[in-house]
Amino acid sequence: MFAADALRETPALLKLDLYCKGARLDASCTEGGIAGRGLLRTRAGLGSGLEAVLPGGLWTNIPVLEPFAQRSPYTIRREGDGLWLDYAGERLAALTLSPRPAWYDAQTGSGKPMTRVGTLQGTYLGVYPAKVCDYWVEQPEKTNCHFCSVGLNLGVDDASEKSVEEVLEVVRAARRESGITYVDFNTGHYEGDTYLDILEPYLRRIKQETGLLLGVQTPPHHDLKRYDHLRALGVNRVSFCFEIFDRARFREVCPGKDAHYGLDRYLDAIRYCATLSSKGPSSEPWVTNGEIIAGLEPPESSIRAINWITKVGAIPTVCVFRPLRGTDYEDLDPPDAEALVPVFARLYDACMLAGLPIGCAPNIHVSLVLLPEECASLSSRRYYLQSLKLAAMKTVFGAQYRRRLRRHDPPAPRA
Ligand code: SF4
Repeated sequence: MFAADALRETPALLKLDLYCKGARLDASCTEGGIAGRGLLRTRAGLGSGLEAVLPGGLWTNIPVLEPFAQRSPYTIRREGDGLWLDYAGERLAALTLSPRPAWYDAQTGSGKPMTRVGTLQGTYLGVYPAKVCDYWVEQPEKTNCHFCSVGLNLGVDDASEKSVEEVLEVVRAARRESGITYVDFNTGHYEGDTYLDILEPYLRRIKQETGLLLGVQTPPHHDLKRYDHLRALGVNRVSFCFEIFDRARFREVCPGKDAHYGLDRYLDAIRYCATLSSKGPSSEPWVTNGEIIAGLEPPESSIRAINWITKVGAIPTVCVFRPLRGTDYEDLDPPDAEALVPVFARLYDACMLAGLPIGCAPNIHVSLVLLPEECASLSSRRYYLQSLKLAAMKTVFGAQYRRRLRRHDPPAPRA
């Protein structure tokens, strides 16, 4: 177990430890229902918990529903108007619930609760616009990734079909009330590689009408030229979740992905997309992410994945395995946080050494993963020159982005 002082002094360590251990909710929190954003099961198959902001301004999603969280040394307790995080019976830190916007209780014009069209994950909007991933309905046997909860979510917390108009309505509400800067679209696998065809009408309209930053997380399309098209459309991020770098373990954990794509197709798409940043509209930033799950393969293998991703010019997204209720892996133990510290330290080091543009996008706080820039305090190395370069990029990019938004959303004329 980490010392309480280490957790107080290093918010990244606290965020990591909470992913691995979860927290118990004291009765003082649950009487009258939990406030904040509630406990919506979020997309991407790894979220389930309480959206909160830790000391140091780190947004997170704390597991509270799973059995492992009931054994956690952390307890969340209400005292007066405030929430506190206790650790092994000792008060550790104040906790702030992520704000619940008014649109969370509103409906679209078509009568759907807006949270069944999109939900906030930290400070961005996540949308899973299409039907359930085909691996969940494959015959004669499902071939879903064993950690995944997407097939459990759909139709429960999420609407299965969402029109472009409905999504646009929720995007506008989230922009107006929550100040989002980024919308992330996520799909599973669809027979015939139709996921990009499904997403493009949403992407085109939202970019044209709002100018917001857009991201796409789908399996790797067989026609890599489709990513040139996304780049030209103004998409800003593509993400490929291969989850596991160890080939034998990849086959075991992700049978559908292995059968339909194979690990190499994921790696080829990442390598290809990482070359596109200099090729599209210069006003639209572009990043490529390779996403893995730490805790389902040895830490050394996760580190090899991070090294590979950064070497080709992409940015790793490293999730922490969460044995969600109802999934095939619900009875597995969550990973040991201490064993994962070197993985997240390497995440920061590898991005800084490769000169990758981390932490430059305006107002993007992610609750479901530790971002590379959040891991600086886990590394013993300092990168003064690269930090200065990133600060300058952030300023330039922020100014560019605000100018663009003003064109879409001009301030009201003076009276
Ligand atoms: S591809 Fe795997 S992780 Fe993604 S939605 Fe399908 S089963 Fe879940």
